[in-house]
Amino acid sequence: MKDVTLQQAPAARTAADALAGTEPRFEGAYVHVPFCFHKCHYCDFYSFVDSEDRQEAYVERLERELSALAPWVRAPLATVFVGGGTPTLLRPPLLARALGAVRERLGASPGAEWTVEANPETVNSEVAATLAAAGVTRVSLGAQSFDPRHLKTLERWHDPASVGRAVTFLRAAGIGRVSLDLIFGIPGQSVADWERDLDAALALAPDHLSCYGLTYEPNTAMTARLRRGDFEPCEDSSEARMLEVACERLRASGFRRYEVSNWARARDADPHAEECAHNMLYWLDRDWLAAGPSASGHAGNVRWKNVPRLGDWLASEGTSPVVDVERATPDMQAGERLMMGLRLVDGLPEAEVSAILAMGERGAGRGRAISRATDAGLMERAGGRLRFTEQGMMTANATLADLV
Ligand code: SF4
Repeated sequence: MKDVTLQQAPAARTAADALAGTEPRFEGAYVHVPFCFHKCHYCDFYSFVDSEDRQEAYVERLERELSALAPWVRAPLATVFVGGGTPTLLRPPLLARALGAVRERLGASPGAEWTVEANPETVNSEVAATLAAAGVTRVSLGAQSFDPRHLKTLERWHDPASVGRAVTFLRAAGIGRVSLDLIFGIPGQSVADWERDLDAALALAPDHLSCYGLTYEPNTAMTARLRRGDFEPCEDSSEARMLEVACERLRASGFRRYEVSNWARARDADPHAEECAHNMLYWLDRDWLAAGPSASGHAGNVRWKNVPRLGDWLASEGTSPVVDVERATPDMQAGERLMMGLRLVDGLPEAEVSAILAMGERGAGRGRAISRATDAGLMERAGGRLRFTEQGMMTANATLADLV
């Protein structure tokens, strides 16, 4: 996720070059598995159908990359997130080997959150048992919709019933935390359709839900179809109503919205227990490592992205070659802190916001944008924090763009 333009640093050729001179305190690691069963039409993640069966070569290279990254990890990691792509497309022995390599080479604290993303069709009892045996504590399932018409529009080919089957396999294997991803604002989707999707998801008793409005990324097949006029996009008013409905339904079902697009089941013992601790690292501006082609890492004001092409990554040694290394100036860091931190329902501490707004003319401009948002009832100061109001959360992305 990159919300501000950062400076290009010319010298770094590898992740190790990018990290030279930094004092990172890595709390998490992101591992990217690029393989997918099929390329969905709305997707702009780096993923592809692996016709050459390079799974084994991928895992071997990952092991070497993790060994090269290991010296940068100075304390046990609190989170590991294996995303993609479709990590569960790795054959179970290779999946176990990849997860084992992360644990062995990077090390994680005993209570660490281990999340793996999965496509529902790929989860069977063997895969679920493999994940559980590897110590995975959380699985994020890409359900997207339970309506075959809308799955077809997205070019997602799983059977809606496979989501429930996957949840059953995961629970039976002892995976305690299950999250479902849903998409709203799909062309042809009505508010009533969306309500049925929410009901179907809630019936599976997930611990966490991510609800994303469909976005048309520049280089996807879906965007090309939109430009050709193959379909009408969902109306803004309808999409806004879908978001309201999600807020109402999920709150009534015991979920707490903690970020613009994320809801966690509120547990009495700890209302934050089901929030995605790994994604919190992104929103709280912490440091995380990256492994695998196209994975992005962050250390202080440095952000880097591994080379995206699998062939280039496989042919490399040591830490991955990088295609982007960006060093944020204090002003850029301030903008990013606002952009990411204010996505959280709890917002940012007032003291931190004041320091950002004191940063010259740019800070003053941001202060004026915040005043406009508070005057309009979109933001509020409460409990020593600046945050969006419930109404403001509905249009948070637009307000943040104004702010940054
Ligand atoms: S399964 Fe996920 S990562 Fe793979 S193509 Fe579809 S949306 Fe993209």
